[in-house]
Amino acid sequence: MKEMKCPICKKTISRDALTVKLHTEEHIVEEFKKDHPEWVEGDGVCPICLKHYKALFRKKIDSH
Ligand SMILES: [Zn+2]
Repeated sequence: MKEMKCPICKKTISRDALTVKLHTEEHIVEEFKKDHPEWVEGDGVCPICLKHYKALFRKKIDSH
């Protein structure tokens, strides 16, 4: 199994676990870019980061 590092949290995860296709989640992509300006969508994120940022975004909406 190929392993690679999540560009956001630097955790080593299997390549298969990495989420690269984020174009249906543009708002999440914006959140990633805000915190990690060097990150590009093609780098992908691990499921943990994705979950974390989804929760973060939801909180943001709720506070409005
Ligand atoms: Zn991560």
